[in-house]
Amino acid sequence: MKIVKVEIFPLLIPYKSNFSIARGKVGGGDMKRTVMMVKLTDEDGFVGWGEGSPSYLWSSETIETVIATLENYFIPSIIDADIYDIDEFHSRMEKAIGPAFSTSHPIAKCALDTAIHDLKAHRLGVNISEMWGLCRNKEVTLSWTVSADNLQQAKLIVEEGLSQGYQNFNVKLGADPILDVQLCHYIKKMVPNGFLWGDANGGYTFNEATKYISSLEDAGLDLLEQPFSSNDWSNWKRFKNFASIPIAVDEAIVSPKDLMEWIKQDLITAFTTKVTRNGGLYPSFQCAIIAQQANLLILSSGLTETGLGLATNLHLACAFGIDLPCAWNGPQFLGDDILTKPLNIEAGRIQLPSGPGIGVEVDEEKVRFLSRDFWDNGR
Ligand SMILES: [Mg+2]
Repeated sequence: MKIVKVEIFPLLIPYKSNFSIARGKVGGGDMKRTVMMVKLTDEDGFVGWGEGSPSYLWSSETIETVIATLENYFIPSIIDADIYDIDEFHSRMEKAIGPAFSTSHPIAKCALDTAIHDLKAHRLGVNISEMWGLCRNKEVTLSWTVSADNLQQAKLIVEEGLSQGYQNFNVKLGADPILDVQLCHYIKKMVPNGFLWGDANGGYTFNEATKYISSLEDAGLDLLEQPFSSNDWSNWKRFKNFASIPIAVDEAIVSPKDLMEWIKQDLITAFTTKVTRNGGLYPSFQCAIIAQQANLLILSSGLTETGLGLATNLHLACAFGIDLPCAWNGPQFLGDDILTKPLNIEAGRIQLPSGPGIGVEVDEEKVRFLSRDFWDNGR
């Protein structure tokens, strides 16, 4: 069964509030979330939807590179591909553009990969978890993101999360280590039993990380993610001896081979799955198996996805029974969505949707409307 049509829909979604990481502001005010939606259609008219939404301060892909990569390289490579052969589908994309240091253009690949999973599962009349034959959980606990320039801001953000029933928090660190310690201390004081996950997004120097890690641990930090830039291997290795809490990797792992190398080099104790970063569900599934077999602590984070990406993340996390709170903050930050019926989040918990494919219905009319606006007015 062949793919006969591929449509792309770049669009912009407003943020509800400001969002910053160590590299700077990624959303809020005039900055809109850049989203890429993809629709695949097969010979019989079955369709699949996928999302691969870049964030240009988080990684090197932008909405402009995703559009050009899809239109000029990946889409021509996967037209006529067999929807039942996802391995071959990825091989075609790998051949279309050579690798970077690791797999190239993973976010553009993710849009197509998740769409073919949705399409294949729809054809089979099952959801993705059923297609895999792996579903250890049916529900996931979510973590509320604290992205604050000062303690006063953090208090308002934490209060908002608590008012919505969230008991677990992930905090953006890496810009100011003294403030980071204060933020951790405050959040842990507010939720002593909550899981506190700090993400430095590569913002620390080795001296900062070694100087402040015990203060961060004393303040209640339960896990530190991506303290250093992705290619700072010697520092990752040395730092393990200074930390008592798990050290997780996010940005650095693009392919399953990357993860194997990091495990062989003994650089990490935890692994953050992220469907978008890994080029979609097929490579992410392989990474999750590797991480589990290596006895790494496994977490899951997102890249501020719409409801479609959120549901996609749910399938991976539920398949592998990830029970630490997941950092999927689309519902927290995005001021709009593209589903006909949004996923229901109650007291910081979200259920795996049971419908076919990814399990949610995309509001195609709305996607087309928003995308027309993108093409007419640009970013
Ligand atoms: Mg991260």
